[in-house]
Amino acid sequence: MSLIQSWLASANRPDNPFPVNNLALGVFSTGDDDPRCGVAIGDMILDCRAAERSGLLEIPGGGFFGQPSWNQVMQAGPATWSALRARLTGILSRGSRDEAAARQHLTAMSDAKMHMPFTVAEYTDFYAGRHHATNVGTMFRGADNALPPNWLHMPIGYNGRASSVVVSGSDIRRPWGQLKGPDHDKPAFMPCRRFDFELEMGAIVGTPSNGPVTVDQADAMIFGYVLLNDWSARDIQAWEYQPLGPFQAKATATTISPWIIMKAALEPFRVDAPERKVELLSYLKDTGPMLYDIDLEVSLSPQGSDGTTITRTNYREMYYSAAQQLAHHTSSGCPMRTGDLLGSGTISGPAKSARGSLLELSWGGKEPLRLDCGEDRSFLLDGDTLTLSGVAQGDGYMIGFGQCTGTLLPALEAPYTA
Ligand code: MN
Repeated sequence: MSLIQSWLASANRPDNPFPVNNLALGVFSTGDDDPRCGVAIGDMILDCRAAERSGLLEIPGGGFFGQPSWNQVMQAGPATWSALRARLTGILSRGSRDEAAARQHLTAMSDAKMHMPFTVAEYTDFYAGRHHATNVGTMFRGADNALPPNWLHMPIGYNGRASSVVVSGSDIRRPWGQLKGPDHDKPAFMPCRRFDFELEMGAIVGTPSNGPVTVDQADAMIFGYVLLNDWSARDIQAWEYQPLGPFQAKATATTISPWIIMKAALEPFRVDAPERKVELLSYLKDTGPMLYDIDLEVSLSPQGSDGTTITRTNYREMYYSAAQQLAHHTSSGCPMRTGDLLGSGTISGPAKSARGSLLELSWGGKEPLRLDCGEDRSFLLDGDTLTLSGVAQGDGYMIGFGQCTGTLLPALEAPYTA
């Protein structure tokens, strides 16, 4: 696969995240306009609502862009997804006879405000990165018992809250919670002291299911991927997580990047899962390469300071693919819906510099991280801005995910008054 040339020069630069090969899908507004669907191309956005109304963007089945979300397209299924990509490629490629008409519907990305690209139906988060699970398990249970006995047999997850998912750029409020740690002999209700991030990818379910599906069927149901930050209150989590898993520790917010990268754009970057030490049960077996070679980075910027890159890793470090997670999710018969969001689990690599959370980077606070500005961090401080970014590097082009960013605001004075 090589670069598909566009008539828009900015889309052809090798360092531009949004060439014709990508066709990232978002929801944007400018000034006081309504939010509406758009496609990223170079440093511009093609307004899909306007293009549909003018007759430029006609897709069989029609009428997809009346709502400010991509759910209608997602629900329509793979034939519509392919038709959309084919038509957009035709409009935006060099030599297209639609160039003049399409130029009327372009907005500069720098003038646009981005919104949630889809309505999240339900949200599930997994714990499916082996290096992350090993690091966390070693901290809490020792190296010999790092992985729980079920871990190599199934992707472990918990049901999160769709209501807590926000788009990149949204501020995050430090939560209050019930804490009990080494420094408190009794539980106390107070602002979280160990607020953290988790570097993850989110898979978005396009077509729904009702009943168990195979790994291949699950892969076919996935519409696309976003970057995802599962903000985590470690001290709340430590006190509450037994026996039913995380609850309020993960309910403050989850941030996603504003651009959905369709599965089709990632096809050239498919890679196999890591070697299996334990054979998976047949309903979970790998049926082909279902992870992707996507370089991931995390930057931390204290208020008023430049960012420091604190993590570099790759999505291929996951142990279970999104297709395997989705297949496992349906194994009980659990119905899946258009707009369901599946967090991959924290993506850590084997190196210390590839750890996807501050819990791991600072080893539970025992080894604070030195930032370029000279400050140390064990966990996030008020005013810190955390930014995830991701890129699949092709030959002379890249598929970029854009950024997934959020700034931590101080806790409320007190959430309850007498
Ligand atoms: Mn997580």
